[in-house]
Amino acid sequence: MLVCAAGFVLCAALAAYALARSRSEREDLARTELVLLPLASFALLGALWFVEYRAVGSAARAGGLLAGALAGVCSLWVARRFAPSFALPLLGTLVLSLGAVSALRESGSALHEWLNGPRDPGGASKAPAVTSAPLPAAGDRPPVVLITVDTLRADRVLGDSPARVPTPSLDALAADSVVFTQARSAAPWTKPALATLLTGLSPLVHGMTNRRARLPDEVETLAERLRAAGYKTGGVGLNAHLERAFRFDQGFDDYAFPARADFGIGLGARVLTRFFPTRYPGVFPNTTAIAEVAVAWIRAHAREPFFLWLHVLDPHWPYEPPAEWLDEPEAEPRRWGESEMVTAVQAGNTKPGQAERERVAELYAGEVRYVDAELARVLATLRELDLYERALIVFASDHGEEFWEHGRYEHGHTLYDEVLRVPLFFKLPGADARATVDAAVSTEALTPTVLDVLGLAYEPARMSSRSLVPWWRTPAVAMTEALFASGTYYFGEKRAVVFDGTKLVLELDTGRSELFDLRQDPRELHSLVAALPALQAEGLRLAADWQARCEGLRTELGIQGDATADAGEGLERMLQELGYAGHE
Ligand SMILES: [Zn+2]
Repeated sequence: MLVCAAGFVLCAALAAYALARSRSEREDLARTELVLLPLASFALLGALWFVEYRAVGSAARAGGLLAGALAGVCSLWVARRFAPSFALPLLGTLVLSLGAVSALRESGSALHEWLNGPRDPGGASKAPAVTSAPLPAAGDRPPVVLITVDTLRADRVLGDSPARVPTPSLDALAADSVVFTQARSAAPWTKPALATLLTGLSPLVHGMTNRRARLPDEVETLAERLRAAGYKTGGVGLNAHLERAFRFDQGFDDYAFPARADFGIGLGARVLTRFFPTRYPGVFPNTTAIAEVAVAWIRAHAREPFFLWLHVLDPHWPYEPPAEWLDEPEAEPRRWGESEMVTAVQAGNTKPGQAERERVAELYAGEVRYVDAELARVLATLRELDLYERALIVFASDHGEEFWEHGRYEHGHTLYDEVLRVPLFFKLPGADARATVDAAVSTEALTPTVLDVLGLAYEPARMSSRSLVPWWRTPAVAMTEALFASGTYYFGEKRAVVFDGTKLVLELDTGRSELFDLRQDPRELHSLVAALPALQAEGLRLAADWQARCEGLRTELGIQGDATADAGEGLERMLQELGYAGHE
């Protein structure tokens, strides 16, 4: 916040100057003041605009802020002109400095990155460096683009569910890809799910299972591995859980994840959103803004091997798609986004009727259609630059979303499939394979799969998942393995094990478990625990073994602390209650 502090100092100096002048030359309405004050403020605001532009890459947004601030300068000037006493100019200066600080807060950590980060965060200011000259050969290192859409349910974009949403851009990408129709996330909320996706490690290994956890330095991320292989690496997106503070930026040359808090509480942001709702539809950058930065970054780095991770948040509540993506406009746009509403529904204090539930699902579908249209621009840029064909493009989500399938909504609270099942596609370089794989796999396998596709060496023993490449290269030897999910955010710690078409869900606090036949009962409504105790025990044993393996890997990687010991004891206790003294 260097510029912020400088702004404060300058404004305070101006105020002190105005005060001194007013005292010494009370009779003389100092002309220098009338010129100097607006000029100095203008210079400050010009600098603000430049910083804002560098930080967010949006001239329009920066211009909006500048216009608002200029209005402040004009009112200050008018106040000084008609009220020779120093009180009003002082007040004006104070308001102006607050406005400046607020505008700076709005540009938030993007600005912070620009000031403190290693390089230009969005690459936006250097963008149009691409010419029509042929791209230099980048050896056999194809561009890698990882697109993750927060909170995207698999059944909205894959398969023949009646709830499927028209997503032409994703359909086109899927048609060129190896598509895993039964992929599940390793965790039901953003932080552990994406930490797993970017490391190939279970949440039980990296330990990103609470609000404050930071990605351990001992962990080697996909970005670190690709950077070591000569890739330029960039991450752009939005979700407070993915901020630099949580060390998600490990391995990224450029990392532009604006802090949600910084976007949310700036006075300037609130004023702009309140009075210019069409231009500033929300206080967070939406998918359009994020796609813009991603496109600029791709253009800036098209001539070198690059890895771009793009994460968009819009399907996450608040469900507020732009009006053009809704069949009928929403009367109360924020109703289904207020955190109070989420809390009330989670606590069971609000019980929406069927019509309301359907409306929520429609709003969500509108978000999915909107995101699909915006991602089209990113994919079109890759095509325009002749990168699409050569690129490895991976598409995934961090988790799904419940719409009352098990009595609640949102995510982070259960391990049922509406929350765990996510899309997972790999568009291979040269599209050298296109396939649909129906085997149950975990997004945990994303990192080893990317490394395998690129032919980059890694030690499989130092990951908790395996490459999915055999599923399309040598399907005969590909093996379905048990999958695990963990790391709930609300309502107590849970575990899920998917094995042999069966899913065991465990509540570690209560010792309750449920067993579902995913083929006969894909909606997970009828637990078979009472009918099939041997299968329940098998699932429990798998969970306990997995726990032990993850603890071992944690030690081997040198990750400090024992984040999972309690859970291990809980699993042991449940096994003992079933009559198993140990799990060996
Ligand atoms: Zn998420």
